[in-house]
Amino acid sequence: MEYAAPETTKAAVSLLAKAKGSAYVLAGGSDLLVRMRGGFVEPDLVVDIKRIKAMREVKKTASGYTIGAAVSCAELGENKALAKAWPGVVEAANLIGSKQIQGRCTMAGNMCNASPAADSVPALVAAGAKAVIQGPKGKRLVPVEQVAIGPGKTSLKKGELVEALALPARKPRSGDAYLRFIPRTEMDIAVVSAGVNVTIDAKGVITEARVALGAVAPTVLLVAAAAKAIIGTKLDDAALEKLGEAASAACRPIDDKRGTVEFRVKVAAVLAKRAAKIAYKRAGGK
Ligand SMILES: Cc1cc2nc3c(=O)[nH]c(=O)nc-3n(C[C@H](O)[C@H](O)[C@H](O)COP(=O)(O)OP(=O)(O)OC[C@H]3O[C@@H](n4cnc5c(N)ncnc54)[C@H](O)[C@@H]3O)c2cc1C
Repeated sequence: MEYAAPETTKAAVSLLAKAKGSAYVLAGGSDLLVRMRGGFVEPDLVVDIKRIKAMREVKKTASGYTIGAAVSCAELGENKALAKAWPGVVEAANLIGSKQIQGRCTMAGNMCNASPAADSVPALVAAGAKAVIQGPKGKRLVPVEQVAIGPGKTSLKKGELVEALALPARKPRSGDAYLRFIPRTEMDIAVVSAGVNVTIDAKGVITEARVALGAVAPTVLLVAAAAKAIIGTKLDDAALEKLGEAASAACRPIDDKRGTVEFRVKVAAVLAKRAAKIAYKRAGGK
């Protein structure tokens, strides 16, 4: 196995593009190293991105925030401006594992690991985040919900890596939230999760919404029908009920030792409603 720690994105892309055999990007390593130790993957090449300066920064721009792919989840939690603008996204990143894991892990790694239960992904999808992908053919922007295409599989092509995650500029009167169900208080994988992002007008009417669900399908779901159920409302009980129904209807979960289909379908509605209430309140709704 070869290990490389390039200092530019261009060099990382070139290494990945030229690699013979299997090549993996190493960010925090909290998934990759576990899989290597378990013998599930045997990379021929590991490209460590943590020495790439541009990937270690969180930048605020006119079009929003750009979060470098090697920024740890702990660093995100310490970024007060980001946490104020996107509390749901930061909350989700800070639910991953433990303090130790958060000191290493990244949201880009969480997304590229492509687990349907990845905690930061529903929050990113609800936020309308895009992955900034660099590859041999240049740069492309891909909505986060299109990066994972199945458990453990991504739409990244040979030689491509995620350079950053781009969050849109925050509109006034907006709020987001992320909730997950786990049977323990921490250090567990989401059995069901929900991310909601809303914008309201001066009267408290929801003008824009995005609802995403995790761990209820092979990939994180963006549920347009759930968003539609609350747009144009003040999140009254009838709207919440419709939101819950749409969330449950979108679920295509598996039965496993952590949760049955029936349980996941029911809890998806509960979490979507609760997350919507938090997001609405954060947007200034009463
Ligand atoms: C004890 C423990 C607890 C955990 N708890 C949680 C939890 O509560 N919630 C949760 O969602 N996850 C959890 N995880 C899983 C893991 O910590 C997260 O998925 C984490 O966000 C992965 O980020 P990373 O930077 O460590 O990724 P890495 O392990 O470095 O990479 C993960 C995968 O993504 C690829 N990759 C990484 N960065 C890029 C990039 N920039 N471009 C292209 N491909 C890339 C890698 O090649 C690899 O295949 C836990 C893991 C452990 C060990």
